[in-house]
Amino acid sequence: MRVPNRIFAVATLLLWSEQVIAQDLQLSVPLQCSLGVDCFVQNYVDIDPGQAVLAADCGQASYNGHKGTDFRVLNTRVAADVLAAAPGTVRALRNDMADRLVRTKEDRQAVQNRECGNGIVVSHGDGWETQYCHLRKGTVTVSVGDRIERGQPIGQVGYSGLAAFPHVHLTLRHNGETVDPYLGTVSETRRRAQACKAGAETGVPMSTSLWLDPAQELLDHANGALLETGLAGGPVGPLELETASATPASTKAPALVFFARLINLKKGDRVVLKLTGPNGLIAQSDGQPLEKNKAQWVAYAGRKTKPSGWVAGTYVGEVALVRDGKEVLSETSEFDLTD
Ligand SMILES: [Zn+2]
Repeated sequence: MRVPNRIFAVATLLLWSEQVIAQDLQLSVPLQCSLGVDCFVQNYVDIDPGQAVLAADCGQASYNGHKGTDFRVLNTRVAADVLAAAPGTVRALRNDMADRLVRTKEDRQAVQNRECGNGIVVSHGDGWETQYCHLRKGTVTVSVGDRIERGQPIGQVGYSGLAAFPHVHLTLRHNGETVDPYLGTVSETRRRAQACKAGAETGVPMSTSLWLDPAQELLDHANGALLETGLAGGPVGPLELETASATPASTKAPALVFFARLINLKKGDRVVLKLTGPNGLIAQSDGQPLEKNKAQWVAYAGRKTKPSGWVAGTYVGEVALVRDGKEVLSETSEFDLTD
């Protein structure tokens, strides 16, 4: 078949421009949010090829076989835009899977071979590829073949596929092999895993990171982060908070409960809580030392409501994370209680 020269020229130019981009591939946060305020890195890449779990900082904020970085939002009602982390060309996508939090073995089986849920694969040339997963059904706004720019909205955060919390998962691959964006290349990802296991290196790898935003801040969440605190009118657990369906606090609700949600806690950590109201102390807890690392943790302290109810006014919740005898983070929040 005869192909006009003009098309060859265009194809060559495209190939060349993609290679230039790949040499300088850098990634920005793939979510419209304020990192550390309303979105957090829940899980990092597991760089260990075997059964162990190892994140880029030689810690364990990941799980076995996890190939990407999970940027989570607070609950399933948040509909933040997923943003292109780097310019490229859309190679594949899915947009028709229901959003459903995976909690049981049956839930897992229902998404087998479609673990990514609604997703987008973007090629950056020179064998580099990114994949976005768990987008909200029907929100993908790009088509296969589209050229996209960094920061461009491409869909909304969701919980389709194998997702136990609302988030966007971003995988980076080079020639089909997983790369941890903190480590930059396949060979550095492999090398770092060995160095971590040998105890030869620890801490945050800064020089190899492909993240445009401060890598240090992104990796901070591996050491524990406070997602939110709140006041509820009854018992709260992870599912109520994940779906924003906790009983609202009021002067007449069955109980008054101060809660704090944290991620990536370590064995031995304690979460200390205190709730005071207009009439003084209501509840406090020194917390038990955790028996193992916890990807997510909800701590709470509260009291049942007496028949006379609670007085309306300002209630103050204090939370502190204690690690190795030291307070490593703390926050004080005020809540207005009304009828
Ligand atoms: Zn993930």
